[in-house]
Amino acid sequence: MGQIVVLDQNMVNMIAAGEVIERPASVVKELMENSIDAGATKITVSIEDGGRKLISVADNGCGMDGEDLARAFEPHTTSKIKTSKDLHGISTLGFRGEALASIASVAQVRATSRAKGQNGANCIEIDCGNKGSISPCSGDYGTTIQIRDIFYKLPARRKFLRTANTEMVHITEQFTRIALANDRLDLTLIHNGRELYRLSDKDKLRQRIAELFPMPPSGISENLIETESNEKGLHILALMGKPAISRTSKKFQYIFLNRRFIRDKFISHAIKEAYRGLLEPNRFPVVFLFIRMPYEDYDVNVHPTKSEVRFYNANLVHSQILATLREKLLGTDLQTQAQLPSPADFPRSQGSPPTGHRSQAIADAMAEFFKKHRPVQTQEQFSYKSKQHLVALRPPTGQITESRTGQPAPEIRSEQRKFLQIHDSYIVVQTDDGFDIIDQHALHERIIYEDLCRRIRKSKLESQKLLIPESFEVTPWGADALKTNAELLEKLGIELVPFGPKTMAIQAFPTLLVKADPLDFVQDLIDLLDRKDTNLDGERLLDEVLNMAACKAAIKAGQRLTMSEIEQLLRDKENAESASRCPHGRPTTIKFSISDLAKQFKRT
Ligand code: ADP
Ligand code: MG
Repeated sequence: MGQIVVLDQNMVNMIAAGEVIERPASVVKELMENSIDAGATKITVSIEDGGRKLISVADNGCGMDGEDLARAFEPHTTSKIKTSKDLHGISTLGFRGEALASIASVAQVRATSRAKGQNGANCIEIDCGNKGSISPCSGDYGTTIQIRDIFYKLPARRKFLRTANTEMVHITEQFTRIALANDRLDLTLIHNGRELYRLSDKDKLRQRIAELFPMPPSGISENLIETESNEKGLHILALMGKPAISRTSKKFQYIFLNRRFIRDKFISHAIKEAYRGLLEPNRFPVVFLFIRMPYEDYDVNVHPTKSEVRFYNANLVHSQILATLREKLLGTDLQTQAQLPSPADFPRSQGSPPTGHRSQAIADAMAEFFKKHRPVQTQEQFSYKSKQHLVALRPPTGQITESRTGQPAPEIRSEQRKFLQIHDSYIVVQTDDGFDIIDQHALHERIIYEDLCRRIRKSKLESQKLLIPESFEVTPWGADALKTNAELLEKLGIELVPFGPKTMAIQAFPTLLVKADPLDFVQDLIDLLDRKDTNLDGERLLDEVLNMAACKAAIKAGQRLTMSEIEQLLRDKENAESASRCPHGRPTTIKFSISDLAKQFKRT
């Protein structure tokens, strides 16, 4: 006798519910999406006990007549697609026709709806798949769906529900995504009678972000850079967090495609690449990315929760996003503003600021320094003015520095600017509205890196023959890596010749890297090539090599600089493309404003 049976419809729905309805937050998402598809302009979500007791979603959308209301809870019923052709180019959030049936199979549901032009509303009740009959009732235009006691007949699933607080975190996240994607809607979220969010349809996007993310000390919305592009059928609007507000996870990356929140590894990668060199490794930018493109250019029928899509031309999406974001980031001044603790943070009785804060540590070091150096030195000693003096200067690494346009570097404008080097590691420079503290190594590294990139883009690096070739032992793998990357070595201006069975010699070395030890550099280069050659494309590999070269050739922390070397460094800084970050993404400069100091010293 055959073993296979056909599952009854309620079982089918419960199985579907397992995919679509993971927890109360999934119900909120599905119901809010239905309201949006119904053309609602106002949606109110009321939750009790984290959604265990009640999830209610009320909208002012198109509503349903009695017949549709009864049918909406049947499996595979939808008004959004009709034929298989409609699957190519889905413009609604829903289309699978399974959300309401799934929800109704695992909870007690009461739905009330009144379509435009109808005299009264209808309502229906369903208890875990057992459907009551349609009955007339009172109600406004639109639809209200109430879900009670979710999973009450499925103890195994109910057990997995977390505390009301945790479930609310998930619900708030779903609400947030929908609120960001639909900034023209009037949206309210209530928990246990308390209003958590009331978002007006008059909100501008930034205002909405400010309301949804009011994180201290300064909100996310104040630290966003906005950019937009519209090319090749792809409209991109991005609000990008400055590096200063980066996070330890991707949680604050919100990607929307035609008002649908999506997760996509191509887009995440493009975002990561756009911030390359601007963030330390393991930090993730805050990004709100809104993409609009023809519905026919991707498939949403990939996953039951519809949060993944398949782009037909993923490369185009990747490259357009990367270009739009990167261009804006590189063209923006991303200097790190020092964040002194606000006077309110100081414990009154002790009078001294809390320690452990990074900028506080810098402020302390500064105070200490000024105490030691107070009146003895004349300011003269730290100021630089004379142009004649500047002309004779040699740059710190012996390189001639050009500006991006190939013009000679402009003179530093302000006659009044003063600087000094502290702890042989940092340079303090007076600016028009305060002072900057520069990490000499990080800044110099950036300058050299940019110089290397510029030159290598044009042709290869200039090199010079070593007076005495330096020989070194090489492993078979090392020799292999060198052979595979012969072109790269050529570009770098490094000439190696065999010098015995296991030995090679460095014959020529790039002029720009005079400060680096050739042997040490080549050894590290071999390590890098040996490690990386299999999984990095040529451009990335070159970038890593240039990073390494810049790091090795740059002035070190702890190195005393002459006045003229500092002057040169400051002049080079003015010409650098993104001088505010070192190639690894650490800040090179921290800005202090005089008004912050005045506040700290309680002068205001
Ligand atoms: P889908 O959204 O994939 O079509 P659902 O099960 O979520 O499937 O909903 C079934 C149908 O019920 C929808 O296609 C729509 O016609 C109707 N419907 C659901 N919610 C609403 C609502 N809030 N207002 C009007 N119609 C709705
Ligand atoms: Mg739906």
